[in-house]
Amino acid sequence: MNQENFQTRQGDISVETAHIFPIIKKWLYSEKDIFLRELVSNAADAVTKHRRLISLGEIEGGDEDYRITVTLDKVSKTLTVSDNGIGMTEDEVIRYLGNIALSGALDFIQKYEGEQSGAAGTAGIIGHFGLGFYSAFMVADTVEVISKSYQDAPAVRWICNADGNYELAMGERDGRGTDIILHVSDEETEYLEKFKIRDMLDKYCSFMPTDIYFVCEDDTPAEGEEAPTPAPINDTTPLWQKAPSECTPEEYKEFYRKVFHDYREPLFWIHINADYPLNFRGILYFPRLGNEYESIEGQVKLYYHQVFVADNIKEVIPEYLLMLKGVLDCPELPLNVSRSYLQNNTYVSKVSAHIVKKVSDKLTSMCDTDREAYEGVWDSIKTFVEYACMRDRKFYDRAKDALLLKLTDGRYVTHAQYLESAKETHENVVYYTSDVESQAQYVSLFEREGLEVAVLDKLIDSQFIQMMESYDSAVKYKRIDADVAGALTKDGDADSVENEVLTALFRRVADNDKLEVKYQSLKDESLPAMLTLSEESRRMEEMMKLYAMQNGGLGGTSMFPQEYTLVVNTTAPLYARLCELADSDADRAELIARQIYRLSVLSQRKLTADELKQFLAGSFDLLGML
Ligand code: ADP
Repeated sequence: MNQENFQTRQGDISVETAHIFPIIKKWLYSEKDIFLRELVSNAADAVTKHRRLISLGEIEGGDEDYRITVTLDKVSKTLTVSDNGIGMTEDEVIRYLGNIALSGALDFIQKYEGEQSGAAGTAGIIGHFGLGFYSAFMVADTVEVISKSYQDAPAVRWICNADGNYELAMGERDGRGTDIILHVSDEETEYLEKFKIRDMLDKYCSFMPTDIYFVCEDDTPAEGEEAPTPAPINDTTPLWQKAPSECTPEEYKEFYRKVFHDYREPLFWIHINADYPLNFRGILYFPRLGNEYESIEGQVKLYYHQVFVADNIKEVIPEYLLMLKGVLDCPELPLNVSRSYLQNNTYVSKVSAHIVKKVSDKLTSMCDTDREAYEGVWDSIKTFVEYACMRDRKFYDRAKDALLLKLTDGRYVTHAQYLESAKETHENVVYYTSDVESQAQYVSLFEREGLEVAVLDKLIDSQFIQMMESYDSAVKYKRIDADVAGALTKDGDADSVENEVLTALFRRVADNDKLEVKYQSLKDESLPAMLTLSEESRRMEEMMKLYAMQNGGLGGTSMFPQEYTLVVNTTAPLYARLCELADSDADRAELIARQIYRLSVLSQRKLTADELKQFLAGSFDLLGML
């Protein structure tokens, strides 16, 4: 077509448009910002198409300076997205922009109209019917398009108002490409704010594959100052697109800082490069957490061909992995994905399963081949890994060999290693402490006998232990004060003696005639007696406390009385002395028994005010006897 026979035309976008515009406006309300993503990614597509034509040899081209420019002009109230991609001819403008090809769209819209649609549902129609361009009408009352095709055709100018009436005329444009000019409506002036636009570009366009420049017309340099050289706002070759073997640790850390603004170094990362048929890439980071109570909420950003789609899509990455931080680029998913689409998509579940596999494989391979580094990060990842195991049996099955136990002496062993070294002394039992300080007495008893004690002192541990026991019923976890381990005594688990006189005496001083008293011959002679509370009763009590707390109580009282056992050590010299005194000097015997009982209570819990008073008085009496 030549310039002479170009006719100015007018038209309506289509009959359906009358229905569609108000709906686009209404439905997209919550997610208005995406219009910029849609326009910039259309521009990037136009560039990609041109690049492809050159690479296919269909057109000639050399080193093209492809670029997208977003220009904000507050005075004329316009926001313009320009590109030097393939451009459109007059016919193409009518075909692509003047006509919303909506075969089933009306049905769809009628079906969903009136439903309260969330952002995801909205994005669903937009993507489904190729309405991306029309999202411009969420913020503009007039949209102007000036385009010149790479083909030899005149430039065209298409201008359309929010009612869908357009006018098509000859346009003017220096070179190939398209300008989309939004005349921002009076209600949407926030889209004329530089920081708002810059934020949106950073969010959605940081990694788009064509250089993007942001120009603000009122950014004129002060007199005498030179305008800064414009720099693209995006990184066109994000790290995830590179081969893992080409990336250095410094690059991974730099990328992490840039994307997540987290200046604490990540612990380690996983670069996923899944080929056909999954065809997705990504980098997942294990963030460094301050402490166990810091909210474990990460951020996994989903991209489509380097265009940001959404954060934390739990259909694509299991919810328990969302404490990771990272990026995933899934070009197989449509740019505008809806939750319901994702939920029932087999591709998505395969991606999700692949991620689970990659994360668990990373843990096991680090545990096997880089044990020192793995032990170094274990304390930081423990809660996360254990939680993941509890949430997903498959994850547990894959990662179980990488579960470590930290021992009281600072060493780390796998569960299998623990059980192996426990074989001789306490087969299939994992002894643990839930508080190294308050259980120090028991810890040292175990350590002196060379028995390993695991530190399981995190909130999650009590549930984790139960999960482990349910997965392998042969193995039991016992807190070190649950009973006296056979390995700590001279004659294994057997009670060495019965002593009715002393039992009666201890019951009297404890003011508890049901107190269970056991006599065992501890290898360690220095400890005259200790209190134990069976693992089951303690767990039951903890559960009741938790329940009470969750239901508004203080969690201090228990419905079940604590059933402690007083274990008297028959190898302690004080035991022999007590036996002697019980016959010869009942008063002294009682004084000593009371003191022994109180001391054993003290190593279990705090004394009550009354108990403390008695304990102090008893101590002074004893001092007086020296
Ligand atoms: P979609 O991008 O999903 O196809 P859009 O409504 O966003 O739907 O765009 C419709 C069509 O208009 C595009 O497929 C493309 O052919 C054309 N188009 C839009 N923007 C541009 C542009 N900047 N340069 C060239 N063509 C464009």
